[in-house]
Amino acid sequence: MYRTHTCGELNLSHNHKQVTLAGWVQTVRKFGAITFVDLRDRYGITQLLFNEELTKTLDINPLGREFVIQATGKVSERTNKNTKIPTGAIELLVSSFTILNKSLVPPFTIQDDTDGGDELRMKYRFLDLRRSELKKNMELRYAVNRATRNYLHQQNFWDIETPFLIKSTPEGARDFVVPSRMNAGEFYALPQSPQTFKQLLMVSGFDRYFQIVKCFRDEDLRADRQPEFTQIDCEMAFVQQEDILQMFEGLIKYIFKEVKKIDYAEPIERISWSDSVWNYGNDKPDTRFGLKLKNLKVRGENVCPELEGKNFGVFNTAETILAICIPDGADYSRKQTDELIEWVKRPQIGMSGLAFIKKGKDETVKSSFDKFFTEQELHSVANYCSASSGDLILILCGAEEKTRKAISELRLKMGEQLGLRNKNEYKLVWVYDFPLFEYDEEGNRWVARHHPFTAPKPSDISKMINNDSKISDAANYLNHPYADIKANAYDMVLNGNEIGGGSIRIHQRALQEKMFAALGMDEEEQTHKFGFLLGAFEYGAPPHGGIAFGFDRICALLGGSESIRDYIAFPKNNAGRDVMLDAPSTIDEKQLHELQIKLDSKKI
Ligand code: ASP
Repeated sequence: MYRTHTCGELNLSHNHKQVTLAGWVQTVRKFGAITFVDLRDRYGITQLLFNEELTKTLDINPLGREFVIQATGKVSERTNKNTKIPTGAIELLVSSFTILNKSLVPPFTIQDDTDGGDELRMKYRFLDLRRSELKKNMELRYAVNRATRNYLHQQNFWDIETPFLIKSTPEGARDFVVPSRMNAGEFYALPQSPQTFKQLLMVSGFDRYFQIVKCFRDEDLRADRQPEFTQIDCEMAFVQQEDILQMFEGLIKYIFKEVKKIDYAEPIERISWSDSVWNYGNDKPDTRFGLKLKNLKVRGENVCPELEGKNFGVFNTAETILAICIPDGADYSRKQTDELIEWVKRPQIGMSGLAFIKKGKDETVKSSFDKFFTEQELHSVANYCSASSGDLILILCGAEEKTRKAISELRLKMGEQLGLRNKNEYKLVWVYDFPLFEYDEEGNRWVARHHPFTAPKPSDISKMINNDSKISDAANYLNHPYADIKANAYDMVLNGNEIGGGSIRIHQRALQEKMFAALGMDEEEQTHKFGFLLGAFEYGAPPHGGIAFGFDRICALLGGSESIRDYIAFPKNNAGRDVMLDAPSTIDEKQLHELQIKLDSKKI
């Protein structure tokens, strides 16, 4: 037996007992003949005391940091107790020890406050994972995993695996592809999600499916994305939106209870997509705080009547004018407002300026555009914004999407600044009634906002069935008859982060073909890419729907972190590299030859 106890287990109840521990040497502190060693394992740290005077056979000189040792001795009450750790009342008086394995000097200290930089710790991730912080993260991840499985098992879901080597049908992101040696010149793709498989499982009659599964997306890695990440992927047959919302409201509340001991008692708030965009500027509102937007002008129409007929060119030419009201902000100094102006001008926000109105405690109003408005008119605008005395109104204007995005960022910044985004507070929201289609600026084309398997809202289906137009041909989205079609889709948002999303699916061939056609896919392409699914829909596909949650993201948020990387055992860096494995890497000529792949040397 290597050990009788773990390093996190011993306390005063074990006093005078003979025990054996095994673990890693975290620190060695030598005081003459006495040496203290902190011995670490997954469970904790125990102080070992080596007294070379008392036990002449001990020679601790060869011990170094991260050596793996086994130590035997008596548990003894400490005079100087450490109340910070569970084993802090005792120490082990070592009578004998064995070095099980030596260690090189680690490249950084393996303690809570490590001295290692990010890249170095990524390279030696196996050492970084010895630190208690990362261990706690992994423990939390496992707790979320366990809670998810328990709940879904209780609800009669089956965990069914789906393949990783599938057909490339790039829709949203780019696929990772895998060359096939046995079918030279042909490629598999790694799934961006098991979407079509879980739908096929419903056609097969499995009724309730889930999987905690890896998904792969070859995207440029924006902040805190990983090329491979984990989803809690779920699908149910014979359901409507309401059934799904209730089932997964149950799941997330169960996770909160099991993992965080939090009773999320109130029903999860529900906000329609358009209300969310109108009030918060985006579709993932952080509802821990108010600071809701005031819509003064929207898509060229003045909503606030006081803006009408003024001589202020900036407002007159803007498509959209939006404001937020900062309580007690009227006494912001010139420096503070200047800082905000600089902030909105940063390239990430990209606005050309910020206007403001200060409504003083003494009822005076001042603004950054006094020249164009009388005091009375400014009062009216401030009233329109429901400003109280002492408030500061921040105003952004410009093109619709950009201005909304900017003000939603400004709202978050102000929320942060005012201490309204409490890390220990959790606010969940369902956002529903998304548009079915959206314009993808990057790809310069119309796409399904969720994915092309999402059903339109039942009341909107007739708009599609009775129309042959392709949204892909629309010069102006807003004028297209499909523009206001709503999807039977929903997202779950936690503290301003999308943590899950799903939809009721199309389950009839005719409507699915219509959807593909609307996206500009001709019959041949439909058959080539999705013939299997269209075919399956002809063999009694039940009505069905589902959802997928970002597992890594949920773990990070419950752990109080913004970074999913800290909750993945072996993550990639910002450039999509595994710096520990040094992957991706080149492969040798023989492998390339077998795959019949020639590299373009000019491009490498
Ligand atoms: N497959 C979808 C996704 O990964 C989720 C879903 O519709 O269930 O976003």
